[in-house]
Amino acid sequence: MIDLHTHSLLSDGMLLPSELVRMAEKNGYEAIAITDHVDFSNIDFIIPRIVKTCKALNRYWKIKAIAGVEITHVPQQSIKGLVKFARKAGAKVVVGHGETISEPVLPGTNRAFIEARVDILAHPGMISDEDVILAKNNGVFLEITTRKSHSKPNRRLVKMALRHGTPMVLNTDTHAPGDLINNRKRDLFLTRLGLDNRAIRQIVRNSRLIAKVRKKGSMS
Ligand SMILES: [Zn+2]
Ligand SMILES: [Zn+2]
Repeated sequence: MIDLHTHSLLSDGMLLPSELVRMAEKNGYEAIAITDHVDFSNIDFIIPRIVKTCKALNRYWKIKAIAGVEITHVPQQSIKGLVKFARKAGAKVVVGHGETISEPVLPGTNRAFIEARVDILAHPGMISDEDVILAKNNGVFLEITTRKSHSKPNRRLVKMALRHGTPMVLNTDTHAPGDLINNRKRDLFLTRLGLDNRAIRQIVRNSRLIAKVRKKGSMS
């Protein structure tokens, strides 16, 4: 399992970053990105701490810990600048907190994240066809989420992404240890969304690509 969207207690998650990574390893994860919520108040505080932690863990543990952020509820005009800042500060996975149906995210935020070329547009809610196409052209991966509060439009998202050939990833948006999943649960979740084996393997490959993790046993 590769999970590219999770939260530690550096934002609103329950676990210390190291604790989160350890729990993920226990669940059989190959890689996990810690992507705490950031805005102007904390982006410079959070990233160096996650970078430092991931570096230390990766020195000793088998699981790959990846430093990231989720840019959350910021003015659309500031998104490009924050993405640039995050990458410069060492975030390897930049997630945009998209227009979920469960929060008053400003309309147009999906578009702004896609234009800023984040790695992943999280829980994009009732995303438009136009934005699904633009995501493909800009190399932005659309997120299928297992998180209950965001997950209702998953089926619609999958259909649109398949129709336009836009790449998807599956993430848990973990805040508590019980939110973590495993390969079996991932495959079951995706099967229930109507995806066939081939589509599921492609989604797994997409996560691998962003995480820069090679398939086990592969020499290339
Ligand atoms: Zn979010
Ligand atoms: Zn999140």
